[in-house]
Amino acid sequence: MMLLTLDELLARTAALHNHLCPRQVLGVRMGMLAADVLKLDLPQSDKRLFTFLETDGCFADGVAVATGCWLGHRTIRLMDFGKVAATFVDTQSNQAIRVWAHPESRRYAAEAEPTARSHWHAQLAAYQTLPANKLLCWQPIQLTISMEAIISRPGIRVNCTYCGEEILNEREKIVNGEPVCRACAGEAYYHIDGLESLTLDNESSFSPDSVYGSLAGMSGLEMAASSES
Ligand SMILES: [Zn+2]
Ligand SMILES: [Zn+2]
Repeated sequence: MMLLTLDELLARTAALHNHLCPRQVLGVRMGMLAADVLKLDLPQSDKRLFTFLETDGCFADGVAVATGCWLGHRTIRLMDFGKVAATFVDTQSNQAIRVWAHPESRRYAAEAEPTARSHWHAQLAAYQTLPANKLLCWQPIQLTISMEAIISRPGIRVNCTYCGEEILNEREKIVNGEPVCRACAGEAYYHIDGLESLTLDNESSFSPDSVYGSLAGMSGLEMAASSES
């Protein structure tokens, strides 16, 4: 059950977000539906519920406020599919549901608030009053990824064999039997001007595949490590 009312939750998310908008309401209503279906007391003060968000933005703050799941508590993860949808996992029972915005919710909002100043205002008002089954869809799902692996265990850390930076939560790759961070293993989302030669042999072009390929063939890393020392 919900430990706070919709109005209390909206006040919290509005304060966090500096305004109140329809997608925050949608996020709050999703969290409330999760409490209802999974029979959990939310917003939680422990880590029992884990949430996968399928987009960031306003909606994410509504979900976090209603559920008590936060990045800082390691109870939220962004799966960036660009969808206003979320999966809620009860980590005790392993029951999981995926919730998404009803495809007709905008039309229902317009019908419910015919005198609203704009679609935005109609949605802001109607998303607070529409019954859940006109606002949201949900179904039980089975995860294809391991919650144990996602959560890992507290206190686990190793240093990357190549860059030396600390890696938490078992996020390292094992390359030639050694722990390597994802960036050094070729999954970096950035590059540093002039440093390509440290992670690649000179004949490779700069692409994750080539880094991966050279790591798999075991030369890129070791060459880089030896050229550094
Ligand atoms: Zn917003
Ligand atoms: Zn590294």
